[in-house]
Amino acid sequence: MTEAPRLMNYIDGAWRESAAARCLDVTNPATGEVLARTPFSPPDEVDQAAQAAARAFNEWRRVPAAQRIQYLFKLKALMEESFDDLARSITLENGKVLDDARGEMRRAIENVEVACGIPMLMMGDFSEDIARGIDEYMIRQPVGVVASICPFNFPGMIPFWYLPYAVACGNTVIIKPSERTPLTMQKVFRLFEQVGFPPGVLNLVNGGPDTVNAILDHPAVAAVTFVGSTPVARHVYARAAANGKRVQAQGGAKNPLIILPDADLEMTTSIVTDSVFGNAGQRCLAASTIITVGEAARTFKPALAEAASRRVVGFGLEPGVQMGPVITPESKARIQNLIQKGLDEGADLLVDGRNPRIPGYEGGYFLRPTVLDHVAPGSTIATTEIFGPVMGLMSVDTVDEAIQLVNSGRYGNMACLFTSSGAAARKFRYEAQAGNIGINIGVAAPMAFFPFSGWKESFFGTLHGQGKHAVEFFTQTKVVVERWLREWSRQF
Ligand code: NAD
Repeated sequence: MTEAPRLMNYIDGAWRESAAARCLDVTNPATGEVLARTPFSPPDEVDQAAQAAARAFNEWRRVPAAQRIQYLFKLKALMEESFDDLARSITLENGKVLDDARGEMRRAIENVEVACGIPMLMMGDFSEDIARGIDEYMIRQPVGVVASICPFNFPGMIPFWYLPYAVACGNTVIIKPSERTPLTMQKVFRLFEQVGFPPGVLNLVNGGPDTVNAILDHPAVAAVTFVGSTPVARHVYARAAANGKRVQAQGGAKNPLIILPDADLEMTTSIVTDSVFGNAGQRCLAASTIITVGEAARTFKPALAEAASRRVVGFGLEPGVQMGPVITPESKARIQNLIQKGLDEGADLLVDGRNPRIPGYEGGYFLRPTVLDHVAPGSTIATTEIFGPVMGLMSVDTVDEAIQLVNSGRYGNMACLFTSSGAAARKFRYEAQAGNIGINIGVAAPMAFFPFSGWKESFFGTLHGQGKHAVEFFTQTKVVVERWLREWSRQF
């Protein structure tokens, strides 16, 4: 049997083998087949990437913005051509179904499109005569070398929340993909090569925690973006900030969703189950706790349980499959333990998705949808990010109680309401403590021209990814106050 290929880094415009002593197997979670091995690149390889990016920055920032975006237009065209290849790669390494992978790549491309507006998005401000004969203006300049540290669950999209804006603003970039899903970025970097970005503008360094820490400590790295779990987000935020870097760190989530009795039964059932079980619950915008208000419990609970038990589970490249596996055997064991913990804490099992048999995929890390009823507020299952296909049901009597429950959580990534009442929707939008709000929407993912706005322990920082926030994050403002001693008419 031939050994799976060891992945390369891309530094200074060339593919380079890592000297890493340790590698991690990348598996297809639907089969357990080893697809490749991720090297845990040591600090000196981060140093090579940072030095290359710092050298490239001097020239890249001088390329006019209107020319920098020509590279992005070309990239967009190549991404469209490779669309299905990239989506299939996501399904293979992550397990999500092909339609979800396509949706992910579409979101990535949308960020490239928005970043093509940089000549205008990056414009400054000018005030004439702030005092007699004195003008003041603000210009935006790139910050330098920036690095993005990425999670496993959106291997194609999340780097694109950042890199199109970063390079369009004149920065140079290091991408550190998740060690568990690094394959799609290998393909994307081949597209960057075809686009012809100058060497050092975009660099790829594979690795794990030590590689991340080398980035956080490197003096040439000016700004860091992170997406991943809350404990690591907190660590990245603190360490990068202690080293004087600009940093934004998006963390985990535990997204609540409220259903009022006047919500549409069919639409709500379908949207809510898609939100909870899409990508096997491994989305930072997956709904996890479903709170029914009053009469809604009677109608919605059986409908949700029924829809959950009907979901087709299997290999995401096969037609008709609605839910793939979770990412690793460890993840599967952790989720099953959490389900058991929920039962021990007094929840009722409406649908049991543990230890399923998926014919032909016995080596995969599958769970079926699980639904737990009567989840107690404050219990482990109610407060822990499960990151798996588990729906927790709670019931309350009033909208106020439901909003109170929503706001009692430590995360604030997303909260959603299902209703046909405009007044209830407005109250919820106004009072809910979360950065992404859905009204009759189950996955309130902001488009590329809006910030991806986590709150509370779902986010550490000020400026978020995407759109104008990304432009702010990847530029520093310079204010010039200017006086000319003579007027030209007296000079000539
Ligand atoms: P993770 O925190 O395990 O890993 C994320 C990145 O951090 C990886 O690149 C990994 O190599 C690195 N890392 C892991 N441990 C580290 C350590 N001790 N020190 C330094 N670096 C370390 O996250 P994951 O399992 O890949 O992704 C799932 C998590 O990401 C979930 O919690 C999910 O909610 C979150 N997420 C959040 C958002 C958001 O927008 N808020 C989006 C997607 C995913």
